[in-house]
Amino acid sequence: MTARFELDRKRTDKISHYFAQTGLRISASLTPEIFDVLQTVCGRLNIDSESVGAYAYSDPGIQAGCFAGNNKECVIRVSSGLINLMSDDELCFVLGHEIAHFLLGHNLPQGHHNLSTEHFIQSRCQEISADRLGLVACQSLEIAIRSLMKTTSGLNDDLLRFDVGSFLDQMRSQRGERVYADEGDSHPSLVMRCRALLWFSMSDAYFESIGNSGGESFEKIDKRITKDLEKYVDGPAREKIAEARQGITIWLAACASIRDGAFDKKEQKIFRDLVGEKFLQKLLQFYSSCNQNEVKNMTRERILDAMSLYQQIAPKEFSESFGEIQSQIAAKFKQPDFSSFLSEFINADK
Ligand SMILES: [Zn+2]
Repeated sequence: MTARFELDRKRTDKISHYFAQTGLRISASLTPEIFDVLQTVCGRLNIDSESVGAYAYSDPGIQAGCFAGNNKECVIRVSSGLINLMSDDELCFVLGHEIAHFLLGHNLPQGHHNLSTEHFIQSRCQEISADRLGLVACQSLEIAIRSLMKTTSGLNDDLLRFDVGSFLDQMRSQRGERVYADEGDSHPSLVMRCRALLWFSMSDAYFESIGNSGGESFEKIDKRITKDLEKYVDGPAREKIAEARQGITIWLAACASIRDGAFDKKEQKIFRDLVGEKFLQKLLQFYSSCNQNEVKNMTRERILDAMSLYQQIAPKEFSESFGEIQSQIAAKFKQPDFSSFLSEFINADK
């Protein structure tokens, strides 16, 4: 056993300990009904139930989470509000979804850029994958979708009049309007998740997992789902990242352009070649009413804003490409010392 594993194990133990203090462990003697559900889910997902510690805690909110410090065992935690809302079958979906995060390695430590657009793209894919195992755990598309509806709305059976058939029809007819997730959400929209589940339920992989044969090729279906996500959710998110990258390029190019105190024709041409006529005109207009000092101060401010935006929405990409962008500007404007000039420029007092 490595030192690292030792540490990670302590982490899981610590979490279990905390949950045991703030909640109730799901067990055969105290909560036999929920315990049976958990056993069923573990059986269907082919995981040793010993490696899953589950706790219920008192909270009217609809919440569940999965925590793991290593790849041997995990701890799941489900609020009483969620348990009370769900039938046993629906709870299979919820527990399956949570255990899936562990089985797919989503909870292992992987950096801390948790609020970035970059991270959201990844986390949405993880939700879609976890839903698939949730479906395998409850073995019914209708139950899976119903449980998604309930967890999203918080409404119980008395209030939620729900017809899966008409809902699916509605889903098929909606074509990417505002039903889709905003690129700032870590969970894909309900419709997107249901659609992904609907398609997955037609795949040979799903048929096989419930002991049947038939279905469409999983690869084909997976591609379709990826395309859907790409088009309506990840596409716009990636666009946002690309815009932030372009923002940096624009303002670093502006910085190189005004370095000698004048924005002459030659520099304008380089600027235009780099980011296009539209931004050149905007920049010329932006500078037109400013004196030398204002030009410098405003450029400095814009560079800092652009840097913090890029860093915030795509921290990983920022750390990889900020240097590259500087080199690009240095080469285009033939300013080999651009990087050191830039760091003086942005750190200078006004
Ligand atoms: Zn999840």
